[in-house]
Amino acid sequence: MARLFQDPAALGLCLAELLGRIAVGIRKQLSKKFGSKGVQVVEDNVRVIRRGFDEVIAVEPAAGDVADEPGKVPRMPILLDSPNAEQGPGNPGRFWEQVCSLCQMGQDGIADPFAAISAIPAATGAVRDMSGVRLEVPDFIATKCTGCGQCWTQCPDSAIPGLVNSIEDVLTAAIDASVNGLRMERIRPIAKHWAQAARKVIDQNPATPIADVWTLSYRAVSEKLGWDTERKAAAEPEFQAVNARLVEFPLARTKPFYDAVESKSKGMGGLLSITINPEACKGCNLCVEVCPDGALESARQDDALPPARGGMVNPLQLSNFRRNRFHGTIGSGNTFTEVCSP
Ligand code: SF4
Ligand code: SF4
Repeated sequence: MARLFQDPAALGLCLAELLGRIAVGIRKQLSKKFGSKGVQVVEDNVRVIRRGFDEVIAVEPAAGDVADEPGKVPRMPILLDSPNAEQGPGNPGRFWEQVCSLCQMGQDGIADPFAAISAIPAATGAVRDMSGVRLEVPDFIATKCTGCGQCWTQCPDSAIPGLVNSIEDVLTAAIDASVNGLRMERIRPIAKHWAQAARKVIDQNPATPIADVWTLSYRAVSEKLGWDTERKAAAEPEFQAVNARLVEFPLARTKPFYDAVESKSKGMGGLLSITINPEACKGCNLCVEVCPDGALESARQDDALPPARGGMVNPLQLSNFRRNRFHGTIGSGNTFTEVCSP
């Protein structure tokens, strides 16, 4: 080996051989991953990687290069804010300071030494915006979901959180999100009764799609409360506004999170929602592949970002990701907080 390093020609040949093998391996992997999308996609990716290798340049940091104008300072997302985390490569605060915050400010930071050895904290994919580079996003079909947890445990980017919420929380959040000039003075006081009636509909007829449960249970409650025609008519606009929010948001009644919980503790079962973080999802479709029930389908990303049925309509402030993940869809905050695991 020492002799090899003393012979530049031999060393050059060895390196060329090594690089050739690496190139073959990379092409093989890219073909495996993107081959089904066509030769052009594989070739484009090969070209990008080749350019990355060929166009490496040394960066000499120079004093005074950085503009001093005040700018927007990015806030650390709650996802990475772990003050008690151990120091070292896996420390999310360090990664935020050295990598993510620079990305958020549009700066091209110096390559992170830990990332170079593939050592980065968990869940950091959730703070990247992949919306401009993906072609597809998963669409959640709630009626097929069994709550197996495969999708959110296998997503490489922590981009598809599964959440379980009580029916009361769902209704309260939907009412809060639907105010828009309405006072909700007729609907809000009956939210608890409405939730009980919804649970009754679900229990009596498990096959009822959750989207239909809201209307059935609301009508049952207004009857039970003895509302006359006038009162029903006055409450109707409020109900319609809330119901519109509810039906557009896919929720699943599942064995692990509803039936099993209900059988142990009546009234405690929750509805599962699978949402897509519109920025973090890179459209790899792994979740679609691992879903055993066909409850996730790959949808072409169009100009609307992301598809409304995926759950998060508006790109979120990542700093509020955990707390306000439902903002803009069904609720505005901390009623939807329970990150579930099977
Ligand atoms: S497509 Fe890939 S990145 Fe997006 S949610 Fe599914 S597994 Fe995660
Ligand atoms: S969407 Fe599919 S993988 Fe995810 S919990 Fe539901 S059934 Fe399981």
